Amino acid sequence: MSVSYHPVLVVGAGVVGLSVALYLQRAGMQVAVLDPLGPAGGASFGNAGMLSPDTATPIAMPGMLRKVPGWLRDPLGPLAVRPSYFPRALPWLLQWVKAGRLERVLAISDAMRALHRDTLTCWRELLGDTLYRDLIRPSGQVHVWEGDDASPTEAIEQQIRDRHGIAAQTLNADDLRQMFPGLARDITRGLFVPGNGHTVSPQRIVHSLAELFRAAGGAIVAERAMKLIPREGGSFTVMTNTANRIAERVVVAAGAWSAQLLAPLGIRVPLETERGYHAMLFSPSVTPRHLSLSPDARHFCTTFLADSACSRFSLKTLCGLAACEPLENILDGHSGNRAAPPWSATQACPRHAVLDQRSRRRAAHQRSRSGAGNDH
Ligand SMILES: Cc1cc2nc3c(=O)[nH]c(=O)nc-3n(C[C@H](O)[C@H](O)[C@H](O)COP(=O)(O)OP(=O)(O)OC[C@H]3O[C@@H](n4cnc5c(N)ncnc54)[C@H](O)[C@@H]3O)c2cc1C
Repeated sequence: MSVSYHPVLVVGAGVVGLSVALYLQRAGMQVAVLDPLGPAGGASFGNAGMLSPDTATPIAMPGMLRKVPGWLRDPLGPLAVRPSYFPRALPWLLQWVKAGRLERVLAISDAMRALHRDTLTCWRELLGDTLYRDLIRPSGQVHVWEGDDASPTEAIEQQIRDRHGIAAQTLNADDLRQMFPGLARDITRGLFVPGNGHTVSPQRIVHSLAELFRAAGGAIVAERAMKLIPREGGSFTVMTNTANRIAERVVVAAGAWSAQLLAPLGIRVPLETERGYHAMLFSPSVTPRHLSLSPDARHFCTTFLADSACSRFSLKTLCGLAACEPLENILDGHSGNRAAPPWSATQACPRHAVLDQRSRRRAAHQRSRSGAGNDH
């Protein structure tokens, strides 16, 4: 087995690993990145592309605990935990419940604000003006709700926006119809958050980071880190599937796999995986100008992805959601693997997406023509 030396090794070539690698490289360090799948092989490929500097609302909110039994009973509910996985998920679920207390929610929102507020500035810094203009649309996001009455959660969300001075504009049913012709009738209220935006291609944005990194002399190596072994003096041996690499510093940015890699070092990361689905609608009859999402428990959002010339309706079920699936199954749906999503996902997407009937029929027709592979 060969041995090589690196000042800095980054494990993982997702959006996090490559952003860190690029920043470190620009700070004058010699950096190499390890990833058996290459850039954007994980969640950074299959997401909805929302960029949310003006979002500081945590997922766990007061009152959620009351809803959990109902969610667990509902086959299309946002939270599903397979009984055999429950004991493993329990510690994380308990922390999630604790995180939903108001004083924790406000403290977490402060941390989220500090992390998110410079999102667009950082993207411009990383990509440069030309790529930024090509890949990023800072055109706001619209949150939508059904029914007339605001939930108690919405009042806390408003409290959080006020706390951080985040601008938002309330929309009524007429405003929404103008912005989104063909919007389902049961969507009656909305909120426009002008400071947010989206990328037209989550995959291309990560590939662009990779190109910038390589162009400045960085190496992305197709190897899997198997084990991190501390050495005297603070450096590490990173055992990969084909080599031993000695690194002065190691950055673990292996997404959902990070907890597994760090556990043998006694570092416990409270990380559970999240499952999400997306349905790709080719030539949709509705092409709204803004990205939209429903911030309630049945998270969906629509994104408009330039690469695939289609709208993407992404149904993101809540937090623990993926606590119930082996990791490989969760990521398969996003990394081009043929695995079809579970029945409940394909049913839930059209049910909750903001579509008029014509688009639904067209989507169903497209699906039947192109097979289940497009429906995740
Ligand atoms: C359906 C869905 C929609 C989403 N929508 C949004 C959104 O709109 N906006 C948003 O900001 N976020 C969204 N997210 C979340 C976002 O995709 C993730 O937070 C983000 O991609 C995580 O990036 P990452 O670099 O940490 O992980 P990943 O992109 O998963 O990258 C981790 C990389 O590490 C590699 N790796 C793993 N183990 C090893 C190892 N042992 N050695 C070497 N390499 C390893 C993997 O191959 C992978 O390439 C969404 C997620 C989903 C599932």
